[in-house]
Amino acid sequence: MILVFFGPPGSGKGTQAAKMIDKYGLVHISTGDLFRYEMGNNTPLGLEAKSYMAKGELVPDSVTIGMLRNKVEAHPDAAGFIFDGVPRTIPQAEALDEMLAEKGSSVHALIALQCDDEEIIQRIKKRGETSGRPDDNDENIIRNRIQVYKNETTPVFDFYAGHGKSHSIVGIGDIEEIFDRISAVVDQL
Ligand code: AMP
Repeated sequence: MILVFFGPPGSGKGTQAAKMIDKYGLVHISTGDLFRYEMGNNTPLGLEAKSYMAKGELVPDSVTIGMLRNKVEAHPDAAGFIFDGVPRTIPQAEALDEMLAEKGSSVHALIALQCDDEEIIQRIKKRGETSGRPDDNDENIIRNRIQVYKNETTPVFDFYAGHGKSHSIVGIGDIEEIFDRISAVVDQL
């Protein structure tokens, strides 16, 4: 089972992905977490990503796709994957599809969590109180991340919709309720 968890920053992708992994035993790949790990270790990749992340811009596709490939190839025997925060551009989606095709596989579904801007700004600010993420603690950067999502990332929804794979879920409500909505979609795949 290969799922893409999709939605604006703060829509609950990470929270819901963690619950899905427990239920279905999938490998979770969050490019945001991977970049933060690299940054924390001051690796060349982390240093390259840092300036983009600080501004709420996307890290260039070439860098992101290379990191994604390494991570996918590190799990040759995975029962499945949840991609969280990736693909964020059409070239990333095409690269992901190509990597999966090489393994004789493909994305089964994209699950999009829908949430309005003011709700996610409040959620991200709250997360910022404990996340220690600089990009969660500045409203201008948060708003830029939302704008970047709208401009650069939403076409990915249409890309998979073109293959009948995109599903929209209302991402407002309590965590269990949202998880039940996602499970209902996944159980029908
Ligand atoms: P996230 O944790 O998913 O909100 O990502 C935090 C930041 O990491 C984003 O604002 C981007 O700067 C960078 N990032 C994460 N995933 C990607 C991706 N797939 N493509 C480009 N940049 C990314």
